[in-house]
Amino acid sequence: MKKRTKILATIGPASDTLSQLESLIKAGVNVFRMNFSHGTHAYHTEVLKKIREAMANTGLIVGVLQDISGPKVRVGKLEQPFHLQKGDILTFIQEEVVGAKVAQGHYSLSINKSEILPKMQVGEFIYLCDGNIRAKVIEAGNVVKTEVQNSGKLSSNKGVNFPNTKLGIEILTQKDRADMLWGIAHGVDFMAISFVQNAQDMLKARAIINENGGDQQLFAKIEKFDAVENIDEILAVSDGLMVARGDLGIEVPYYEVPAIQKRVIQKANSMSKPVITATQMLLSMTENETATRAEISDVANAVLDGTDVVMLSEESAVGQNPVLAVETMFNTIRETEKMYEYDKFSNFKMHDEMDIIDETAVMLANNLNANALLAFTTSGQSAKKLARYRPKKAILAVIHDERIARSLTIVWGVIPAFLVEQSTLNEMMKQVVKEGLSQEVLERDGCYVLTAGDPVGVAGTTNNIRILRAHELEFFETL
Ligand code: PGA
Ligand code: MN
Repeated sequence: MKKRTKILATIGPASDTLSQLESLIKAGVNVFRMNFSHGTHAYHTEVLKKIREAMANTGLIVGVLQDISGPKVRVGKLEQPFHLQKGDILTFIQEEVVGAKVAQGHYSLSINKSEILPKMQVGEFIYLCDGNIRAKVIEAGNVVKTEVQNSGKLSSNKGVNFPNTKLGIEILTQKDRADMLWGIAHGVDFMAISFVQNAQDMLKARAIINENGGDQQLFAKIEKFDAVENIDEILAVSDGLMVARGDLGIEVPYYEVPAIQKRVIQKANSMSKPVITATQMLLSMTENETATRAEISDVANAVLDGTDVVMLSEESAVGQNPVLAVETMFNTIRETEKMYEYDKFSNFKMHDEMDIIDETAVMLANNLNANALLAFTTSGQSAKKLARYRPKKAILAVIHDERIARSLTIVWGVIPAFLVEQSTLNEMMKQVVKEGLSQEVLERDGCYVLTAGDPVGVAGTTNNIRILRAHELEFFETL
C-alpha cells in the first residue's frame, strides 16, 4: 500500500505519448483528465487509445475523466491588444465586432455570449483576463458601459468572469453536447461539468448521459459563486465534486478559496462522494524542477482536509517534466499520510443502513488492526461508504466488472484489487483468497474484514461483515 490519496493528471502535448503515459501511471497517476477545452475528437480518440494501451502494458487500472469545457465567456477578437489604464471606458456591445479604440481612453468590444449583457446592473463588476482587469458597470442595458479599475493589457479571446451577476446561462453548449456524445461512445469513466450554477444544470447533463445510454459518473466543477451558494443541492445530484480553484478564485475573492475548499471537501466526504482539489497545486513545476514550499504545503493540506484526489493541470499537460510533477505529488502525499488524522473522519450523519454497516466494519478493522478491508461490491457504492471513514488500512474492492473497477480509481484509499466472476459469496471468497495469497496481495497470517451483500450481484444489499483470519484463509485456500 503506497498511498491513499489519488492523483489525477491532465494530459496534453507534454504527456500524450504512450511511453509518457506508461511512466505517469507507474509514477502513481490514478486518473487521467482529458481537457475538452482543447483538441479535436480525432486527437482525443488517439489519446484514449494510448491510455488503454498503457493500462494493458503496465497491468495497472486507471480511470479517465473527460472535462467538458462549458459556457466559458470570452472577449471577442480585438484589433490589437488594449493597454488599459484606470479610468478608461470599455463598452460591451451586442453585435459581434472586432474590438477597437473608439476615442482616447475609450474602447468597444464584444463577448461570445452577448445575451448576458442585459442582465448586468450598475455597480456590478466584470473581470477580464483571469481577474487581472476589473471593470465596473456604469451604464446598464443592451449595451454595457464600464469603467476600468486598474491598468493591464487585454488581448483577444481572454476569459471574462461576472462575480456579482447571476447569469442563468445555458450550461451545455452545442460543442459540449457533441463532446459528451463522444465521451459516451468511447466509454470514459467520469465527466466533469464546468461552470455549474445549480442542481438543474447537473440534471441536464445527467439527462444527456441517460438518453444516450451512458453510465458515466458526473462531477460538478465548483467554480462559480452561485455554485458555492447552491453546494448542497448540487452535491445531492452529482457523483462527485471538483474544487476548481482557478475560476473560483476569480468568482469569489481569492482569500475565500481555502475556506470554501475545506467546506466543499467536508460536505463531499459526509455524502461518501469523491472530491477533487484542482488547479495551481504545483504550478511552478510547469517550468521548474522543484516546487515551491507553498505548493508542497498546498498539496499536503488538501490531503489533510480529506480530499480524495489532488490534480495536476498545466504541470502535466504542457510542463517541462510531467513525471517529476507526479513523483513530487506522490512523495508529498506519502509523507503527509504518515500523520493522517484518521479519527477526524467520524461522527457522520447516517443516511441509510449501509452507512451503519460500513461504519461498524471500519471500526472492527481498525480495532483488530486488520491488514485491509475487503469490500465485495456490485455498484462500488459500499467501497465508497467504507472510504468515508478513512480506515487505517486499504480498502481492497472485489468487483464483477472492469467499469466499476475504473469508477473506484477516483476514491480515496480504494484499490480495485479483485475481478471475480463467481456468483455465490462462498465461491467469490475462495477465488479472492486463492488469488490474493498467490499474488501476495493478502498475507497468510493476516487478518481481513470483509463486507458483502448475499446474494451477490444485487446493489445496495450489504448484509455481511466477516472476519478472515489465518485459519479461515487457509480454509478457503484448500477448498
Ligand atoms: P479549468 O478548470 O482548468 O477547466 O478552467 C479548473 C479551474 O477553473 O480551476
Ligand atoms: Mn475552470
